[in-house]
Formats: sequence, structure tokens, C-alpha cells
Amino acid sequence: MESQKKYRSGFSFEFFPPKTEQGREKLLAARDQFAALKPVYVSVTYGAGGSTQQGTLETVGDLMAAGLATAPHLSCIGSGADAIRALLQQYIAMGIKRIVALRGDMPSGMRDTGEFHYANELVEFIRSETGNHFHIEVAAYPEFHPQAPTAQQDLRNFKRKVEAGANGAITQYFYSVDAYLRFVDDCERLGLDLPIVPGIMPITNYKQLARFSDACGAEIPRWLAKRLEGMGEDLESIRAYGLEATVELCRHLLEAGAPGLHFYTMNQAAPTQAIWEALALGDR
Ligand SMILES: Cc1cc2nc3c(=O)[nH]c(=O)nc-3n(C[C@H](O)[C@H](O)[C@H](O)COP(=O)(O)OP(=O)(O)OC[C@H]3O[C@@H](n4cnc5c(N)ncnc54)[C@H](O)[C@@H]3O)c2cc1C
Repeated sequence: MESQKKYRSGFSFEFFPPKTEQGREKLLAARDQFAALKPVYVSVTYGAGGSTQQGTLETVGDLMAAGLATAPHLSCIGSGADAIRALLQQYIAMGIKRIVALRGDMPSGMRDTGEFHYANELVEFIRSETGNHFHIEVAAYPEFHPQAPTAQQDLRNFKRKVEAGANGAITQYFYSVDAYLRFVDDCERLGLDLPIVPGIMPITNYKQLARFSDACGAEIPRWLAKRLEGMGEDLESIRAYGLEATVELCRHLLEAGAPGLHFYTMNQAAPTQAIWEALALGDR
């Protein structure tokens, strides 16, 4: 963890573009609560193949209007170089300085993978088109990407993104401190030196979380899954126990030298704020 101790990446919040006007109203209310916490930046997800391009742009605009440094995600699978080039120019014109560069997953029904196959190619493209304008974040997987044949290959592929010009990494969410610590140690052994910020998913709804985790390869440890499962539909107990477990996770990570935390807010202020307050992150 030595590489991480010199970085102070701070705290950031992730949102997704809402699909309805009602969702947008909720996001705007959450935005103002999050703005009061003074994050280093906020980010907005982007559907592969450009499926949320307009929504991402609008949400980025909504967040910037509150004075928040905003980083759009950009997933390249299913997109052409011209479309990505145009979007990068639009982001530069909007005053955006940070991008989260991803491969993304092919939307079902879509066949054409486009001109990019992996995130390292996107990072390389962003650098060749825009030099050092953007601070580029990439995704990291302490429990390894579900499509990776081996942990070693996944680490080598992570290294490609860093060598292509990534400045920092945000991890997939996880609930095992050890998985993160070992991942960082592996990166150090590969000579990688960049902030690797843990992604934190607050626990509010076990069934939804279990579904999500299955799809993205994040593991809910047995001890945690069993307890949450046993609470059935009692959402209040799930939230209370989920909060306790997540606060403990964040505390261990920060004590071990994690450079910051990136919260997957799911556009809801209360669950992330509860973790924030329990850890007194505003005082850090
Ligand atoms: C912080 C974070 C934010 C995210 N935001 C979004 C979002 O906004 N929109 C969205 O659609 N998805 C998002 N995702 C999900 C992400 O797009 C998926 O996990 C996707 O499956 C992989 O994207 P990646 O950028 O990590 O891909 P890559 O780094 O390209 O890796 C994908 C797989 O390919 C392998 N691989 C990588 N490079 C090579 C190579 N050169 N040759 C052979 N194999 C290779 C890797 O080992 C891995 O198994 C996010 C994930 C994280 C962790």
C-alpha cells in the first residue's frame, strides 16, 4: 500500500443520467446535498454505444451548474472514432477536465463493436487527440473482471490502461478489504504508481445488490450475504446493517492508506450521507 499513501484523491460521487423528469428532480435535490459536502469531483455514467449520450450531457450540465467539477464517463465499445472525437471536443468546450474512460459492455441486441475493443485503446485515443488536457480515470477490479481468464491477465490488461496514459483508477465495488490491499500490492509489483480509489456501494436493497453483483462480478462475502438475506423484506434492518458494514469497510480502507473513496450514489443522497457522517469525512 506504500504507493497509495502519498496520494490524497479525496472523495467523489457517481451519478447516472435519470430517464424521467421526476428522476431529474430527485437528482437535482440530491445534487445540492452532495454539493454541500464539497467533493473533489462528481461523475456521470455513460451507456455503451452512446445510448445515454444526450442524458449524460444533460446531467453533466446540471451538475456543473451547481459549481461541481464534473467528470463524464465515456465507454467506447460500439462507438466510432469520429463520434468520440466530437464528444471530446464538446467536453473541452464545456470546460471539462476529467474523464472516466471505459470499454463498457455491448448493449444487448447490438452487434457492431465499433472501432475500439478495450479501454486501453480509448485512453490512447484520448491522449493522441487531446494531449494532457484531461485527467483520465480508468476502472480497476480488485476481485478481477468477470471476463478475465486469469487474475494475472487482468492485471496485465490493467497495466496497459495505465501505460496508455491513465492518471488514476476507480475500483469496482467490493466488500473485502483484503481483495483491495492485494490488488494494490500486485499493481506495485508491476511497477504501477497511480492512485487506486476504492469504489463504495452503499447497501440499501439486498436483492438489487445481489443481482447487480452477479452481473458485474463483485462478490458479497458469505457472512454479509447470509445476514442480509436473513432480513428478508425488512429494508430498515438491511439499511442499518448495510450501513454498519460499509462504514467498517471504508474505515479499514482509509486506515490502510486508500487515497480516497468514490461513492456509487445511485442518485440517492441519504445512504452515502449516512456513511459520510459516520466517518466524519468532512473533517478529513
Ligand atoms: C468505476 C467504474 C465506472 C463504470 N462506469 C461505467 C459507465 O459509465 N458505463 C458503462 O457502460 N459501464 C461502466 N462501468 C462498467 C464497465 O464498463 C464494465 O465493467 C466493462 O465490462 C469493462 O470496462 P473496462 O473499461 O474495465 O474494460 P477493459 O479495461 O477494456 O477490460 C475489459 C476486459 O477485457 C480484458 N482486456 C482489457 N484490455 C485488453 C486487451 N488489450 N487485450 C485483451 N483483453 C483485454 C480485461 O482483462 C477485462 O476482462 C464502470 C465500471 C467501473 C469500475
